[in-house]
Amino acid sequence: MYDVNEIRKEFPILKQSVYGKPLIYLDNAATTQKPRCVIDAITEAYTNVNANVHRGVHFLSQKATEQYEEARATVRRFINARHAHEVIFTRGTTESINLVASSFGETFLTAGDEVIISTMEHHSNIVPWQLLAERKGIKLRVIPLTADARLDKEAYTALFNEKTRLVSITHTSNVMGVTNPVKEYIDIAHSHNVPILIDGAQSVPHKRVDVQELDADFLVFSGHKIYGPTGIGVLYGKEELLNRMQPYQGGGEMIQTVRFEKTTFNELPYKFEAGTPDYVGAIALAKALDYVTSIGVEKIAAHEQQLTLYTLEQLREIPAMRIFGNPDGAAISFLVGDIHPADLGTLLDRLGIAIRTGHHCAQPLIDHFGIPGTVRASFAMYNTQEEADILIAGIKRVIKMFG
Ligand code: PLP
Repeated sequence: MYDVNEIRKEFPILKQSVYGKPLIYLDNAATTQKPRCVIDAITEAYTNVNANVHRGVHFLSQKATEQYEEARATVRRFINARHAHEVIFTRGTTESINLVASSFGETFLTAGDEVIISTMEHHSNIVPWQLLAERKGIKLRVIPLTADARLDKEAYTALFNEKTRLVSITHTSNVMGVTNPVKEYIDIAHSHNVPILIDGAQSVPHKRVDVQELDADFLVFSGHKIYGPTGIGVLYGKEELLNRMQPYQGGGEMIQTVRFEKTTFNELPYKFEAGTPDYVGAIALAKALDYVTSIGVEKIAAHEQQLTLYTLEQLREIPAMRIFGNPDGAAISFLVGDIHPADLGTLLDRLGIAIRTGHHCAQPLIDHFGIPGTVRASFAMYNTQEEADILIAGIKRVIKMFG
């Protein structure tokens, strides 16, 4: 049994009122709220465990190190990586992609090489590659969309040539909530001997993602979008690739020996974790993943999908409603008539409804549609059908106000 009301009790922030109305939080694609166990894990770590990891022989440092490495093992299990040392802790999806762009780029790419991305990427899967293109003279190739706003598989296949070195695409669009059949895209890349990075920022929180089953070379995601804290995220990479890649940042922890003549680097995963890591963040992220596991990833996915379908049905009955793409995940982007998304967002906010408006850090996709932005409602494990109803009623009220 999936008891959403029991789940809601675990999220203290949801009890809040906004402008005298119960908070209806539908901006989960931006960040999720935190369950009590995650908040407590942060307090507990600073209260009883805090000491710098991997550095001290003393009791606390050992305890902190143990919990940090247990957190890595939890992430490994969650995404079914082969080895814990294939899990690198970063600040989040953005840093993970920058790490790959920088380290993979410096190691393997030269002028004229090509990287394939897509029209529906978040800026964090566009700009790092553009910066690399400027630095190294590589070329970006962009997968176009079909008329119904899906990735164009034929066009993707045609982009490969002898210069293609990497593919980097999103699993689920943060704007449209559409999930790409990435397994097929991975297999196509591999048939050309090209590795592929999957941006799991919007998929890992909403479905079971198994890196071995997918055979993804890299998978990235953010802790804060899966009920964990901000400032912590994950880069999964295949051992063989990570071993060959240059370090990302230099500093403590990532070295074996430092001499002015020559420095040698630490083994995985530490080679990519320069400086004091956010070990408290990692410990709390592991708590969040354990919490998700205890409820059941599949059960959460089914709940969110049912909510998405229900909301879509109601939205489609509203005249002048325009829904972008084919949402199958937990996010829906829409516009109503010529009401500006910012106006709709502001008025819904006054009704206690938190939704996102604008370009959602995906300007090329918004330009593709030729619109100023969208209104996006995105769901999490704690959202209810009543909240969807209040959203729909709110939208209808705003439409009335605009005549
Ligand atoms: N990729 C996608 C698909 C996203 O939705 C987001 C955040 O919204 C990111 C990347 C960037 O994530 P972060 O800001 O946590 O690094």
